[in-house]
Amino acid sequence: MKNYRIAAIPGDGIGKEVIAAGIEVLTTLAKRDGKFGVSFDHFDWGSDYYKQHGIMMPADGRSQIANHDAIYFGAVGAPDVPDHVTLWGLRLAICQPFDQYANVRPTRILPGIQSPLRNVKQGDLDWVIVRENSEGEYAGQGGRSHVGLPEEVATEVSIFTRAGVTRIMKFAFDLAQSRPRKKLTVVTKSNAQRNGMVMWDEIAAEVARDYPDVECDKMLVDAMTMRMTLKPETLDTIVATNLHADILSDLAAALAGSLGIAPTANLNPERKFPSMFEPIHGSAFDITGKGIANPVATFWSAVMMLEHLGEQAAADRLMRAVERVTANPDLHSPDLGGKATTREVTDAVIAAIMGDN
Ligand code: ATP
Ligand code: MG
Repeated sequence: MKNYRIAAIPGDGIGKEVIAAGIEVLTTLAKRDGKFGVSFDHFDWGSDYYKQHGIMMPADGRSQIANHDAIYFGAVGAPDVPDHVTLWGLRLAICQPFDQYANVRPTRILPGIQSPLRNVKQGDLDWVIVRENSEGEYAGQGGRSHVGLPEEVATEVSIFTRAGVTRIMKFAFDLAQSRPRKKLTVVTKSNAQRNGMVMWDEIAAEVARDYPDVECDKMLVDAMTMRMTLKPETLDTIVATNLHADILSDLAAALAGSLGIAPTANLNPERKFPSMFEPIHGSAFDITGKGIANPVATFWSAVMMLEHLGEQAAADRLMRAVERVTANPDLHSPDLGGKATTREVTDAVIAAIMGDN
């Protein structure tokens, strides 16, 4: 029997609440099936740690989690710590050195959940957004001169490498090929940005030649927001840069009903380093401590973790349990227009796992 060791990093705000729920659900799932074991090591890194130590995670933090089978991450960010400190100090401090260059964000309308788009039904919106997660606009390059003076200039330099774009493009084509519709949309802004974005278009065309069975089209990111909203059924797999996909996936989450259900996987596809699974949402201090955070995004992230670990049967069982719960409006949390608490949703998913055949 395989025993998976998971590094749990709940982080800040509702991250702590939803990861606690996710751990309960994964533990139940392992017990229910008896086919694999799962144990969690907890790391209390994040903004509270920062306030005590002046850093978001210890200097040897990465080596403490380098040999885990996966990382289960909550959220970072606190009202009294600058966002770039929390993001660069923890989330990106793990993603970048662990070369988690493929950020995968499935979006679909789950049973019982209403899209804010009036005519969109379950099945009309079924996407996977692949976000380049290691370079691009978030490469951290640039600088400021004459800070605070009227003549101040700041540069924010995007870095795109042929190797970086080629590997994410291949990843996206592989993923598109594995899905029933075999359809990939490549998003850029190559009309206005004529270096990196043009290279993206060129590499997409080159890689496409190796995937004759994948139908591939190109969109500019601005037009893409309209297509996602007006013709969601025409899209399937989507690949975009770090910045563009960050924005598009918040739109996707909203169109699918709530940020509270949107999961993500930060993958190191070569498996040299652990991959990291997390809800897309942030620490949501406006609802922290109220017990009403929607844990569905964190459960769906666990589904992605199980798939990555090769536990497909358990992943399917968990997704069935989640869908059985979302199908019941009495079990919707406030972000979905309901009254259910994190505890009630979690208990219902646990009951559905135990009742699943
Ligand atoms: P970050 O900067 O970390 O991305 P953010 O400021 O974008 O954070 P989020 O924390 O992602 O904000 O939350 C945005 C809004 O969505 C908040 O009003 C929050 O209450 C709501 N929200 C986010 N996640 C959930 C959830 N799991 N359940 C319920 N509501 C949520
Ligand atoms: Mg956000």
